[in-house]
Amino acid sequence: MARKIGSRYTAHQILGRGSAGTVWLGEGPEGPVAIKLLREDLASDQELVGRFVQERTALLSLDHARVVGVHDLVVDGNDLALVMDLVRGTDLRTRLERERRLAPEAAVAVVADVAEGLAAAHAAQIVHRDVKPENILLDMQGPLGPGGAHPALLTDFGVAKLIDTPRRTRATKIIGTPDYLAPEIIEGLPPRAAVDIYALATVLYELLAGFTPFGGGHPGAILRRHVTETVVPLPGIPDELWQLLIQCLAKAPASRLRASEMAARLRELLPMLAGMAPLDVDEPEQQAPDQPEPAPAEPTAPAAPRSGAVPLVPGAASADAANRDTHTSMRVPAPDELAGGARGTARAPRATGAPRPGSARNRHASRRRRVALGVAGVVLAAAAGGGIWAATSSGSDGSPPTDNTNSAPAAP
Ligand code: ADP
Repeated sequence: MARKIGSRYTAHQILGRGSAGTVWLGEGPEGPVAIKLLREDLASDQELVGRFVQERTALLSLDHARVVGVHDLVVDGNDLALVMDLVRGTDLRTRLERERRLAPEAAVAVVADVAEGLAAAHAAQIVHRDVKPENILLDMQGPLGPGGAHPALLTDFGVAKLIDTPRRTRATKIIGTPDYLAPEIIEGLPPRAAVDIYALATVLYELLAGFTPFGGGHPGAILRRHVTETVVPLPGIPDELWQLLIQCLAKAPASRLRASEMAARLRELLPMLAGMAPLDVDEPEQQAPDQPEPAPAEPTAPAAPRSGAVPLVPGAASADAANRDTHTSMRVPAPDELAGGARGTARAPRATGAPRPGSARNRHASRRRRVALGVAGVVLAAAAGGGIWAATSSGSDGSPPTDNTNSAPAAP
């Protein structure tokens, strides 16, 4: 069934559903487009509509081959829509779920593409803030690159900012996706360009290993690991690639590469990686059998909605669970809470019968967990620190708004 969006576009069929709304295959004056129709509760938020219009210029100006371009923003009655380039393909999460790990050459080719897109964004003073496999689209109709990789494009620029109302972006809140959150965000600093580098390096690690470096278990434990743990080395990874990876996963934002450097250095590595098979990575607890710490706060029950639930955006709790994906919103932990992880392990021990961290079962469970997390929000018992990290319901704490959004200046 066709549906008119403004005076210039027609939406024909649903391509997919995401955290902010539904993406349609559509048609505009210049041909086929993808139309992201924001959820009704977002579209009826006057403040959000105002910011949407304000953002128009920044969003429309980002024009790069590795970024899904936004052509138009439509505000029409109850409809609020982003009209984007149509990418005929799939997202990187889907590919990762199918293949579990990518060969290093393909993984590096994909991440180099995204780093180029980020370089263009950062040069325009735009920080993405939510780099993750779900926001990387693979253009199946584009020419095959190194390792048989399809061209990769970064999408959802500006969407996190649009749907974060000011009262949700105060300095005391963390908004993002736990597995990909840079330590400085967890420590309460405003997100600069380096947070995107950290997130993209996390994606690279995940493509190579089949799991993220600090993911798994309770979200509070994930946040703690970002701040206190070092990355577990991947067996068989060429040293140059490993050095680049850990530099981009540095705790100190200033130590990370810039996006353009990351892209260039990754491209230089491609010839060396040609023909290399996917890494044969042991599951995390086998890599580090001597790591001692049980994680007392790991929940044993499935993640069900709990009290203290915090939707990312107003009305989110009532929306389709599949829409919630991986966002969370929680209080920035105090330094002593974070310091509690000094003895910590990068992985929590596996409970009997629980899926292994690298297993397909766990990857699906982990996706479900992230979805559940987004729906529910959490009350976080900090694992080693013993403190409670309480998810908070919204910015009613009286703290001043912070512009920690996509327009934050790029890191030097
Ligand atoms: P999320 O909010 O989870 O990042 P999106 O709303 O961006 O998800 O996208 C939902 C689905 O729509 C995705 O599965 C993606 O494959 C598809 N999609 C998103 N943008 C485009 C696009 N520009 N072209 C084609 N498909 C798209």
